[in-house]
Amino acid sequence: MPRSLFADAPDTLIERLALQDGIPATISAFWVEADGEHILFDTGIGAPEGRLMERLQAIGVAPDDVRYLFLTHLHGDHIGGMMCGDSIVFPQAEVYIAKAEYDAWMQMPAEQNAKVVATMEAYKERLHLFAFGDTLPGGVLAIDAAGHTPGHTAFKAGSLLVVGDIMHGAALQVPHPEYCAEYDMDKAKAVEARRRLMEYARDNRLTMAGMHLPAPAFLDIE
Ligand SMILES: [Zn+2]
Repeated sequence: MPRSLFADAPDTLIERLALQDGIPATISAFWVEADGEHILFDTGIGAPEGRLMERLQAIGVAPDDVRYLFLTHLHGDHIGGMMCGDSIVFPQAEVYIAKAEYDAWMQMPAEQNAKVVATMEAYKERLHLFAFGDTLPGGVLAIDAAGHTPGHTAFKAGSLLVVGDIMHGAALQVPHPEYCAEYDMDKAKAVEARRRLMEYARDNRLTMAGMHLPAPAFLDIE
């Protein structure tokens, strides 16, 4: 992630952390076994740059094997892999999204949400809207992580805490959660959620799995 994404962070701090040339990050998705169910968390940016399909194939997972797809939020680098042109990529997948996230995107102007609307329409037969606090298939707990987007969701799956876009530059934001990437839509809420989820992971000894954590995209908070 470019340093310019974190305009609020002072140069002195960025230089002390040796991040002036950018902050290590990935675009990640996670294939998780929880209570005997296999769940895909997010789908990356999709064709042609995305490598989700080759990565799934490498571990023996075909598109039809994806029965559950849980989404942290509806940004393009998380839902891009759901479609290939006008075709859906995961025809067997039951898709889970926070109702708060779905409703917020559906109310945005067309120039902002066209891709989201088209993707949701394509999967409308198998769309499930949940509330924060709900327990989903696989015993997965949906946790309020709003701030980055209005219905941004974290998921507790066994000892894993899928944190979505709770941070975009871990090397800066773990020691300094007060700084937001410009992508965070509600910065005050994003800061609160970032702090709360790091504490939750630490207190419950959960490994964070983050969609923009540096490779391999897992992090334990001590
Ligand atoms: Zn993202």
